[in-house]
Amino acid sequence: MQLSIVIPLYNEEESLPELTQWIERVMKENGFEYEIIFIDDGSTDNSWEVIKQLKQKNPNIRAFRFKRNYGKAAGLHVGFQKARGDVIITMDADLQDSPDEIPEFYRMITEENYDLVSCWKKKRYDPWLSKNLPSKIFNFTARLVSGIKLHDFNCGLKAYKKKVAKAIEVYGDMHRYIPILVKNAGFKRIGEKVVKHRPRKYGKSKYGWSRFLHGFLDLLSITFMSNFSKRPMHFFGTLGLLSFFIGFLILAYLSYLKIFEHITKIADRPLFYLGVLTVILGTQLFLTGFLGDMISRNSPLRNEYLIDEEIE
Ligand code: UDP
Ligand code: MG
Repeated sequence: MQLSIVIPLYNEEESLPELTQWIERVMKENGFEYEIIFIDDGSTDNSWEVIKQLKQKNPNIRAFRFKRNYGKAAGLHVGFQKARGDVIITMDADLQDSPDEIPEFYRMITEENYDLVSCWKKKRYDPWLSKNLPSKIFNFTARLVSGIKLHDFNCGLKAYKKKVAKAIEVYGDMHRYIPILVKNAGFKRIGEKVVKHRPRKYGKSKYGWSRFLHGFLDLLSITFMSNFSKRPMHFFGTLGLLSFFIGFLILAYLSYLKIFEHITKIADRPLFYLGVLTVILGTQLFLTGFLGDMISRNSPLRNEYLIDEEIE
């Protein structure tokens, strides 16, 4: 099978028939062997009934339904696990991404040998203040932190080599940082393609302002996890030693004044409190690193590595 099209959806009943028809047309025109994988993320409207009807007409459709709403990342994760195609495409269900782009994405993966191709909505049809501006800030930060030269990290339309999609674990709200997950898994050929974006036709956006605060916290977490999760002591221990050392110098200096210069009222000086504070802080950071190391030593992921090729 050439293509798996993974579509996470939450309350998108109006869009589904149109989207499916459109995909079917593109697949037929290009003679693709494909499957569509719908992940119904606990919809409370008629989405599941609509999917069941669509399935009756098209056997290439597979669908999975969550008991409750887990979020887009969960949908993508399950979709990746179920996918059988050599190239895996993800797209939103709301008709904002055009299926006409799929053949070019497929070509970039198979012929230009990209591991991941992300879309870039160069011209966006979303509200400016609540979407486009925050998204610019978000992408700028993600570029800075990750060093990946993408304009649009969180774009829904993406294409993956099968092994790439199977190698990453999208969880929480980490679908926003898939390119970073892919890079951290060791894949280097990450590209982008400018796509036509369309305004949402039916229903409404499932995300509001809070996504940007959460997104920022996730970025901190993902950066920390990729650099230090297997060795927390390197992070906390370095800070801890530094802090302890500064405090030690301060207190040694004050002790010297007290013992050899006979200066009194040492404890009245701000410097004294700074010394005490940094020594305590340093010890705490050091212990945090130590505990972190003990936890990661027991983590089932401690020896999880990705083997790319094998000769036996
Ligand atoms: N979605 C989902 N689970 C959720 C929220 C959203 O599967 O909890 C799906 C949604 O149905 C759509 C895609 O994720 O197919 C993107 O969501 P949306 O269009 O609301 O995001 P936006 O385009 O506003 O960024
Ligand atoms: Mg949308």
